[in-house]
Amino acid sequence: MYIRRLCWPSRLQCARRAAVPRHVQCRQQEAHRWKHLGCGTYRAVIFDMGGVLIPSPGKVAAEWEVRNQIPPGTILKAFVKDGENGIWMRFMRGEIKTNDFLQEFGRVCSEISKTTVPVDSFFSLMTSKQMARPFPVMTEAISQIRAKGLQTAVLSNNFYLSNGKSFLPLDRKQFDVVVESCVEGICKPDPRLYQLCLQRLGLQPSDSIFLDDLGPNLKAAASLGIHTIKVDDPETAVKELEALLGFPLRMGIPNTRPVRKNMEIPKDALQTYLKNLLGSGGPGPLELLQFDHGQSNPTYYIKWADHQLVLRKKPPGALLPSAHAVEREFRIMRALANAGVPVPTVLDLCEDLSVVGTPFYLMEYCPGLIYKDPSLPGLDPSHRRAIYTAMNKALCTIHSVDLKATGLEGYGKQGDYLPRQVQTWTKQYRAAETSTIPAMERLIQWLPLHLPQEQRTTVVHGDFRLDNLLFHPEKPEVLAVLDWELSTLGDPLSDVAYSCLAHYLPSSFPLLRGFSDQDVRQLGIPSAEEYFRMYCLHMGIPAIENWNFYLAFSFFRVAAILQGVYKRSLTGQASSATAGQSGKLAEFMSNLAWDFATKEGFRIFKEMPVTKPLTRSHHVWSRVQGLLSPTGTRRYSSVPEASPAHATKGDLVLSPEGLSPRVRTLYCRLQQFMEQQVYPAEPELQRHQASADRWSPSPLIEDLKDKAKAEGLWNLFLPLESDPEQKYGAGLTNVEYAHLCEVMGMSLYAPEMFNCSAPDTGNMELLVRYGTEEQKARWLIPLLEGRVRSCFAMTEPQVASSDATNIEASIREEDGVYVINGRKWWISGILDPRCQLCVFMGKTDPQAPRHQQQSVLLVPMDTPGIQVIRPLTVYGLDDAPGGHGEVLFERVRVPKENIVLGPGRGFEIAQGRLGPGRIHHCMRLIGFSERALALMKARVKSRVAFGKPLVEQGTILADIAQSRVEIEQARLLVLKTAHLMDVAGNKAAALEIAMIKMVAPSMAYRVIDRAIQAFGAAGLSGDYPLAQFFAWARALRFADGPDEVHRLAVARMELKPRA
Ligand SMILES: Cc1cc2nc3c(=O)[nH]c(=O)nc-3n(C[C@H](O)[C@H](O)[C@H](O)COP(=O)(O)OP(=O)(O)OC[C@H]3O[C@@H](n4cnc5c(N)ncnc54)[C@H](O)[C@@H]3O)c2cc1C
Repeated sequence: MYIRRLCWPSRLQCARRAAVPRHVQCRQQEAHRWKHLGCGTYRAVIFDMGGVLIPSPGKVAAEWEVRNQIPPGTILKAFVKDGENGIWMRFMRGEIKTNDFLQEFGRVCSEISKTTVPVDSFFSLMTSKQMARPFPVMTEAISQIRAKGLQTAVLSNNFYLSNGKSFLPLDRKQFDVVVESCVEGICKPDPRLYQLCLQRLGLQPSDSIFLDDLGPNLKAAASLGIHTIKVDDPETAVKELEALLGFPLRMGIPNTRPVRKNMEIPKDALQTYLKNLLGSGGPGPLELLQFDHGQSNPTYYIKWADHQLVLRKKPPGALLPSAHAVEREFRIMRALANAGVPVPTVLDLCEDLSVVGTPFYLMEYCPGLIYKDPSLPGLDPSHRRAIYTAMNKALCTIHSVDLKATGLEGYGKQGDYLPRQVQTWTKQYRAAETSTIPAMERLIQWLPLHLPQEQRTTVVHGDFRLDNLLFHPEKPEVLAVLDWELSTLGDPLSDVAYSCLAHYLPSSFPLLRGFSDQDVRQLGIPSAEEYFRMYCLHMGIPAIENWNFYLAFSFFRVAAILQGVYKRSLTGQASSATAGQSGKLAEFMSNLAWDFATKEGFRIFKEMPVTKPLTRSHHVWSRVQGLLSPTGTRRYSSVPEASPAHATKGDLVLSPEGLSPRVRTLYCRLQQFMEQQVYPAEPELQRHQASADRWSPSPLIEDLKDKAKAEGLWNLFLPLESDPEQKYGAGLTNVEYAHLCEVMGMSLYAPEMFNCSAPDTGNMELLVRYGTEEQKARWLIPLLEGRVRSCFAMTEPQVASSDATNIEASIREEDGVYVINGRKWWISGILDPRCQLCVFMGKTDPQAPRHQQQSVLLVPMDTPGIQVIRPLTVYGLDDAPGGHGEVLFERVRVPKENIVLGPGRGFEIAQGRLGPGRIHHCMRLIGFSERALALMKARVKSRVAFGKPLVEQGTILADIAQSRVEIEQARLLVLKTAHLMDVAGNKAAALEIAMIKMVAPSMAYRVIDRAIQAFGAAGLSGDYPLAQFFAWARALRFADGPDEVHRLAVARMELKPRA
């Protein structure tokens, strides 16, 4: 009978006022009085419940789903299904009784998840004691607010049980006003609910502050004039509230609570011990609190006279062998304090069981901040990054400790750390095993077989994660590394892998919160790979290849620990309240570990030599008939019959994991540069490209070029084949470059930053291959240094330039110089003020055989007679500052020594130049496509239409699958083409070059088009790179020759007689 609608506001208001308890009325008067004292402008704080005072139903649902093996997101989807008219909202407004709700809600959930969903159990959880445990920080804030005479109110939804009784998981006495949506018949974000609350508080909107975790609710309150605070993390929200109210809301020791039942320690004995240790404590009783932390070893805060101390002890009861060794913690912390590692100052180790019943040690209390949520809500991205960088550096400090100097040589066995650890944790797991976990069984088999060959030995922390670090409150500095229980001597990389745990766990994961469901780039947190590279950089060590082994091992170890916690929770020994959940979590964790083991397996597989023989050797190619099988299909050797030349020219590496260590390092560095420098610069570069200054190069590009050069990410394109001594470039094979070029292709701005952009790359390669020493000195060197830019002028408006023999521009010899006349268009890069060289193709002898009429001249752009008439646009985009120009050449006089190779060699040069250029475009197109698909996937996961996320629509799934398949197909052909160029030369790879030029632009065009469609109108805008990618992919069906010409070439080669 609690269903009532807001039909009679005035009557209801009277009834409510009469119903306001006396203590509330008194508090209203107090608030009034307080206002006159002039202590601030706000008079009330209104709280939402879920996600503000107690855990949000969404998070509770996510955890419950994991435990009950319900498809993730089911409950959340059921919450929002049918919006305002959905079952959840109707229940929240009290329009439906609990039993009816449960029945209907269960049906909706089962429909969504295609499985039976025990919603009763979820509802029981929502109305259980577990929920009735409000966030301590909020409870404390409420009492401080009230102590200052301000009013408090709470907006609740529906917490009525099937028996009609209300289960409000809060103490009603903490609030002057409690508004329950199910009683009022209206629900947030309906503004009437806030108005009702204000009426009952007797206040105006501007007198109050409202806290909620949901944007629409906050928006509605703000539209009335209520000040709002978004709650992502209760601790941060309380800080914001403190700032608004102007008085502190936290008086106690952070992260502590009254000592838990069964965890009490005898105060008298402790006080006597403290007196003996520290001398007389002075007046006052001993205060004891328990830290929320200390899953394994209970940890207490002690205030005794002027002393603020921390006591850490073994848990009571029978313990697993060698676990909970507080003696070792004491020893290592004392030793590390002298070695510059930030640790709390330890005072004493007490092994006398008569004091608190177990051995313990004592340290000074060190005030500081502990970030419990690793996604660092409430901080800005740069701050988050700084926190993770400080964490990384602290780990490096630990791993750099001199074992001899600190006397820690005997702290653990040296060498063979990983085999011993695998054994130890297998034993620990077996000792705590309650049922068979398949992934654990597989890992127990797999880990010993994949142990790394080389390992270093340093101090390892063993539990190095963000919430074991105490930070300076004002700067990103680690004040103390806590919890050394699992420390020993061992392989430091296991610590690094373990410290990335949060990257792989969802935010709803109980016990160990993570952020795998959030976008780390947006958060500003370094990705796990980046974090690892950062570590290698700080330590000055090379990156390892079997990183996934370390992740598999670390997560296996956590799974074994969780299983131990679970077993102890069954016997009532575990100190954490949530320890009972850890059984299911051990299983989840072991599955995660197995995923990494699988990845490591793939890495090893990909590097196996089976990928190498997929080659065609010179002599096979030269005998055309040998190339074709009797069925007419092309044949490749699966036996390494290659010449010695081939052996040095490179392997067909199908994925970046298979690259040689040197190239892999370059690849990782490039990826890091893209993440740290290129993507963040895109908005600024785009702004520049849309501004009036766009025809001048962006200074940011120049700056990033310097940075890329400093990192050795420069001139990567020049193939080993044309630069065998690596005089000019990075000495990569075409296959190696294909992997790197794909990464560069992910941003339209990136290639230039690495001096790897067209048309300069083609021109530089032309100069390397065919230029004289003088030509190289004059043009190649400045181009390689990135000081100048260049263009390539072949296409002409008046003739069909797909056929290069058509071109008409003339190059005539007059008075010992060449004189050029002609009109060109679509000349990319010619408008760039840095463009100093035009590689010009014209006819020197129209009477010569068809393919010997053309010549290539190097024309300085400042030669009189060159006139850029206009920039052309591609779908309205002008590609400033390089642009694509229409240009008139009128009596342009060029010295004779500027001819390349000699008269009549132009056709040959153009073919040689375009080969690598074409494939570079194709490599970048794979990058465009990967980025478009990644953007599409992220978008469709977050947008909901017609009651479900777009990603669940069948057509979207089909589009994603189709795009993945097409990208993979095209990439394989790119790699095969690059490989043939490496082992047989550009000419021999002509067929593959033509094929990939046919395939890649159309593939990218389709993939990008699908991404745009899934994005909605935003996909066409300048807010995302998709529209520009699309325009480029379309243009590349012309540039370097239209599709049809390449199709013709393929067909002609296919039809060549076989005999
Ligand atoms: C963004 C962009 C940048 C460019 N940059 C440069 C540059 O830097 N330097 C430069 O010199 N050029 C550049 N070009 C020009 C480009 O190389 C030419 O557009 C291309 O070679 C086609 O020549 P065309 O435009 O004269 O088309 P045409 O030769 O007139 O051909 C028109 C159409 O006829 C059809 N066709 C042609 N041949 C055949 C055939 N054999 N069988 C069937 N159908 C056929 C095709 O559909 C073709 O698209 C660029 C073009 C674009 C779009």
